[in-house]
Order: sequence, then structure tokens, then C-alpha cells
Amino acid sequence: MQAIPAAAQDAPGDIAGGRLTIDLGALAANYRKLTELSAPAETAAVVKADAYGLGIAHAVPALARAGCGTFFVAYPAEGLAVRAAAPGARIFVLSGPMSDKAATTFADAQLIPVLNSVEDIALWRRISREPAALHVDTGMNRLGVSEDEAVQFAAENTGGMAIPLVLVMSHLACADEHGHRLNRQQLNTFQHVAALFEGIDSSLANSAGIMLGADCRCALTRAGIALYGGRAANAVDNPMRPVVTAEARVLQVRGVRAGGTVGYGAAARLERDSILAIAATGYADGYQRAASGAGVPLRSAVSDGASGFVCGKRAPIVGRVSMDLIAFDVTDCGGAVAPGDWIELFGANIALDDVAEAAGTIGYELLTGLGRRYERVYVGADN
Ligand SMILES: *Cc1c(COP(=O)(O)O)cnc(C)c1O
Repeated sequence: MQAIPAAAQDAPGDIAGGRLTIDLGALAANYRKLTELSAPAETAAVVKADAYGLGIAHAVPALARAGCGTFFVAYPAEGLAVRAAAPGARIFVLSGPMSDKAATTFADAQLIPVLNSVEDIALWRRISREPAALHVDTGMNRLGVSEDEAVQFAAENTGGMAIPLVLVMSHLACADEHGHRLNRQQLNTFQHVAALFEGIDSSLANSAGIMLGADCRCALTRAGIALYGGRAANAVDNPMRPVVTAEARVLQVRGVRAGGTVGYGAAARLERDSILAIAATGYADGYQRAASGAGVPLRSAVSDGASGFVCGKRAPIVGRVSMDLIAFDVTDCGGAVAPGDWIELFGANIALDDVAEAAGTIGYELLTGLGRRYERVYVGADN
């Protein structure tokens, strides 16, 4: 039987519509900055969802070279990818051991499950003698054993059947809001529980938690979005370097008279004679339709659509983002934009989080949804 060619996966540059340039030097610099902020705590890198869309195979070695020795993923399969990229690393799997059958996967790749429930604890005890982490819920009501269950586990986990615990962790619900009362409440509960596990490392802070203050940093911090240049804390200038630049190729440049309408639903009507650049990216590439410049319901919370960046200027999106195409208003470039040029969707000039906000979402969702049609170019690997 003949092999069926894969459809447009990671298209090469000469035929790709969009391109992602991923600056591994900026990633390494962000890691080093977070280690300074976290010190004396160790800083782990959270690389779930293929390193927030950047690609585990490239991001993990760059982080390891920058000194990162501990990684967190969501699922065991992601842990295998990290193991291949960083043979000597310590790898935690946040979603836990999953099933009895996963025991060999965890053992073979030396993955450490995060035990999130009494059932997870029983399962791990049944199938393995290997180390594990314990997740305690301190108020988020997502994953984790309760405070009472943690107390009971601390008392019972002794003798020959004891699980070799290497980490006690919890997760903050509102770390991005500095003054939120739940932060203090969760910290208090966590400190109480962590004290029951003497000599075992504790971990509470994600990226935003690192910025909350020394109390939350414990022995190990878990940095995700800030590594990738996203904004971790609201109402604070983002101190991280952008890591991902997304660009779309201009397919066509057209003049449209005032009064003309653009795109599906004729949702935008031009108020002046305009020059539009039609670029090769769309919602199928994870550039959300809700970031449209006009005519999309359910985006009423934000008034303006997103912009691109070309010829040294911001170019607003006109009309609806479609599956594979976006129209940008490049009238102010005065004819300087031509087919084959590239428009920045986000990167050094347009903040990832501004595009996300225009679409009513967060940088995390934009990054992790970027899709497989882009050419991915990795730069700065030797920094
Ligand atoms: C995703 C995740 C993190 C990383 O969060 P960021 O906000 O991206 O820094 C840390 N801890 C847990 C439990 C997570 O699920």
C-alpha cells in the first residue's frame, strides 16, 4: 500500500502561508530571568501542550542548556517527548498516572506522576514503587486531594508500602490578580499542609505566582507562560522578552473605493478609498475569528479588532477573519506593501496578549492553538 502524504504539516517556507519564528535565545533569557526572580527556589519549566505551541523538541533542549533540570507536562505522552529531548531531566506529569496500564510508560521513561486524588494514590501504590508528587487542592477545586486527605496520607504513608514522595504541590487560582484574597488563603492552607511533609520539596507558584512574592515560591516554581513571553500578571508591565513572532504572507494587495464592503457578511464598510493587503492566515491557523475588525457577535466586550504590523506601522484588520485569509488596512503604507511581503501578526511590535485580548481570550489560548500550517523557524539556539 502506498503511503498517504501528510497534509500541509509544518509547510516549508517557500510554500507556507504563515511563519512562526521562535527565538530560543529569548526563551533561554526568560528562563534565566525567572530563575533570578525565583531564587533561592529552583525554577521548573512547564512545557505541556508542546511547550505552549513552540515545540517540545526545540524548546526543551534550549531550556536544558539554560540550566533547567525539571519539567512539567500535562499528559504521559508529552512526558515521553520531553524525555527524548532531555534524557537527564526530572519530569512531572500533572494529570497523574491515568491507568494501571500506564505503569510501564512511567517506569520506562522515568516519569513522575502527580497524584491528584485518593484513587490516584491507591493506584500508584498498587502498580509502582517509584517516586510521585502529591497535589493538594487549596481552594481552586480542580485537581488535588483535600486538606483532610493530605493529613491522612501524611500519617499513613509510612513503612514498606510508602510511596516515595518527592514533591508536595498546589496551584493558585488567582495569582494573576495581586490583591485577590484567595492568594493569601491558599498560601496559608498550603503552608499548613506542606509542613506535614518534612524534608519534602514544596511547590505553589506558576509564572504569576513567582511575581506575587517570596512566600509563594517555596522550593520549586513552575513557570509556563512567562517563559514564552506572555503576560503572567495583570496590571503589571510584562518584563519578559517576546519569544514567538507570527507572520502572514501577503497574497494580494488591492485598492477598494470608499463605500466598498470587505469579507464575509460584508461586515466592514470602508469609509475612505483604501488599500487592503490580503494575508494568508486565518482561524484555521488559530488566529481567532473573534479578533475580527467587524461583524463578529460575541466579541462585544472589546471594541476594536486586532492589528498587524507592516511597513513600520500598525495595520488594522478589516472585516471578518476567515478560515485562511485576513484583510489588513495598509492604506497608510502608501503603496509600500506588495504580494510576498510578510505582515507581523504578533511579536516584537504587536503584543501576543493584545491580539488575544482583541479576541476576548488570553495569550495562552492563542499560542497553544496556533496550528500546523505555519512554517516554524527556530533561531537563537546558541545563546
Ligand atoms: C499550566 C500550569 C502551570 C504553568 O502556569 P503558567 O501560568 O503558564 O505559568 C503551573 N502549574 C500547573 C499545575 C499548571 O497546570
